[in-house]
Amino acid sequence: QRDAERKACYKPAIMTDGARIEVVANISDVAEAAAAVEAGGEGVGLLRTEFLFLQRDSAPTEDEQFETYAAMTKALNGLPIIIRTLDIGGDKEVPYLQMPAEMNPFLGERGIRLCFARKDLFRTQLRAIFRAAATGPVRIMYPMIATFEELQKAKEITEEVRNSLGADPVEIGMMIEVPSSAVMADVFAPEVDFFSIGTNDLTQYVLAMDRLHPQLAKQADGLHPAVLRMIDQTVRAADAAGKWVGACGGIAGDPLGVVLLSGLGVHELSVSIPSIAAVKAQIRGLSREKTRALAQRALACRTAAEVRALA
Ligand code: PEP
Ligand code: MG
Repeated sequence: QRDAERKACYKPAIMTDGARIEVVANISDVAEAAAAVEAGGEGVGLLRTEFLFLQRDSAPTEDEQFETYAAMTKALNGLPIIIRTLDIGGDKEVPYLQMPAEMNPFLGERGIRLCFARKDLFRTQLRAIFRAAATGPVRIMYPMIATFEELQKAKEITEEVRNSLGADPVEIGMMIEVPSSAVMADVFAPEVDFFSIGTNDLTQYVLAMDRLHPQLAKQADGLHPAVLRMIDQTVRAADAAGKWVGACGGIAGDPLGVVLLSGLGVHELSVSIPSIAAVKAQIRGLSREKTRALAQRALACRTAAEVRALA
């Protein structure tokens, strides 16, 4: 039986009525890239590159980053990897970058904003990513995009770096984790190849509840109908533009989250490595029709508790 379970984890996750949901991994280092494949992951939906910058005295060089990303594509053996550009700031502090103290770090110079303030870091990382893209299927994703100008600027810098290397184009996506980007998803969709919904931050920004606050943790529920409505709006905008949508926040690995995200039409779930097999197994027992109906009911709920009670 163990053997059968192991084999099943390598098969795609197809719903009872034929819809396929890709199940990929959230990772932060090379060992996890290998572990993701071992666990049945169909690729990497989120590489949190900021972990390459933590617990050291200086930023990793272009070559160091290239070696790391290339080791990951090798471990993935042809499966795709979404490399998210640096998402430093917020709770992730990096002493050697000497970032000024902020009153509200989650609302400050975080993610793509820091990359614009420190273009040296951004360009170096992009160079390493484009070099690694020659070793396997690599996609680029920007974190914390809040405005259209930010996306345009990030794409411009990416294109400059690509041209300077004479590298081939890669698929470009953005995180949907700031409410403005969900609300304006129809404006963003034509400009990217894919979206990935970061429900951890989206929840904190939609509900104005710090994701790390011990007293608010229970209320800051990613299945709150306000969050689900933003996801619904995002998926519909992406569908209209012919783009695909992933989800990479914590609820992508939550059993009710899997049902509701599938029902809202999310195409790819990026989850922690230990959740991969269970999420795939769960999807195989679901039908598109039933999850869709349940998602519609969830969108009409008044509270997160009402949504949770649907389970
Ligand atoms: C998120 O915000 O949901 C996300 C996946 O990114 P991170 O947790 O790294 O902020
Ligand atoms: Mg985030």
